[in-house]
Amino acid sequence: MARSHNFSAGPTALPLEVLQQAHEEFFDFAGTGMSVMEISHRSEVFMELGHQAEQDLRAILQVPSQYKVLFVQGGASMQFAQVPMNLLGDKGTADYLHTGLWSGKAIQAAQRYCDVRVAASSKASGFDRIPCAADYNLNPNAAYLHYTENETVHGAQFADVPDACVPLVCDACSSLLSKPIDVARHGLIYAAAQKNMGAAGLTVVIVDEALLGRALALTPEILDYARIAKAESMLNTPSTFPWYLTGLTLKWVLRRGGIASIHQLNQTKAELLYRTIDDSGGFYRNRVEAPFRSINNVPFVLADPALEPAFLRLAEQSGLMGLKGHASVGGVRASLYNAVTLQAVQALSDFMKDFAQVHG
Ligand code: PMP
Repeated sequence: MARSHNFSAGPTALPLEVLQQAHEEFFDFAGTGMSVMEISHRSEVFMELGHQAEQDLRAILQVPSQYKVLFVQGGASMQFAQVPMNLLGDKGTADYLHTGLWSGKAIQAAQRYCDVRVAASSKASGFDRIPCAADYNLNPNAAYLHYTENETVHGAQFADVPDACVPLVCDACSSLLSKPIDVARHGLIYAAAQKNMGAAGLTVVIVDEALLGRALALTPEILDYARIAKAESMLNTPSTFPWYLTGLTLKWVLRRGGIASIHQLNQTKAELLYRTIDDSGGFYRNRVEAPFRSINNVPFVLADPALEPAFLRLAEQSGLMGLKGHASVGGVRASLYNAVTLQAVQALSDFMKDFAQVHG
C-alpha cells in the first residue's frame, strides 16, 4: 500500500492504525452485523462508544469534573457564533486577542452579537508574533476573553495560556491533543476534529458548568450548550461516524503514551523542519518570532517565489502532499499534526535540502 506523506492543514492525515481498525470494522461493528454508520445513535452500543470517547478525552486532557464535554456539529466556525450566543449573558461586550486569520474570523462573527474589543493585536507586524501579555488592554467587565491558541494560517502559537480576569475561551482547533492544555484555566475550549482528533463533522466543546444557562434569547435550542449538555450531545442525531473515528484516535493517543509523549514527538518534528528552514541560508524563510513558532503549522516562503510552483509540483511527485499555503497568504505550509510521522518530516526536510541545492 502506497501512503502519501500528508501535510494538509485539515482534513489531514489520520493514524494508519485508526484507518485500519475502521476498515476492519466497517461492515460489522461490535458484532452487530451493521456498520457503525448504520446503527442508531440511541442504541446501547453507540451510547457506550460515545461515553468511552468522552472518558478517554477527559483522561488524556485531565478535564476537571465540573467541565462538560460536548460533541457537536457545525465545525469550529459554528463556535465563532455559538460562544457569544451562550456566554455573553447580560454583558454585551467581549474581549478578543487578534493574532491571525482565524481569530479575525472569530472577531467578525462575534460582532453580530456584541461589542467586540480587541484587547491586543499583532496585525501591525503581519501576525509574526503573539502580543506580549503586558500589552493586553483587558476589560474586567467583558463576558469573556477569546484567543486562538494556534493560528493555522499564520503559524503563530501561544507559548503560555494568557492571563485573564474573566472566563477564558480558547479556539484550540488546530492544537487540541497536540500538546498539554491546562483546562482549569479556561471557561471554554473548542476544536473541530479534522486536525488532530479524527474526521470533519465533529466539534468538541469543553465548558465549565458554571457558564451554562445564560444563552441569549435568540439562541436556537439546538445551539444552547446547557440543553446540549443535558441531552448528552444527543439533542438531535449527532455526527456518528466522526464521533466513532475520534474515539479510535483517542485510544491511539493513549496507546502512544498520552499527551506528554505526543507533544515531545511533535516538538521534535517541528524543530527538524524549522532547522531545515533556518539552515537554508535564506532559501526558505519563516517569519514568525521563535518563541511563537507553531508546532502544528509551519508556513514558509521561498526567497524566489517564482520557484514555488516547481517546489510544490516536485514535492507532490515525491509523495509529499498538501503543502500549498493558505490562499490568503500564499507560500508553502507544512502541517505537522499528530498523525504525521517523524519519517514524513524527515522526507520533507531531505526534499527541501535537495531542492535548495539544485535551485539555490
Ligand atoms: N479555527 C481555527 C484555528 C482553524 O484552523 C479552523 C479551520 N482551519 C477553524 C477555526 C474553522 O474550522 P471549521 O472549518 O471546522 O469551521
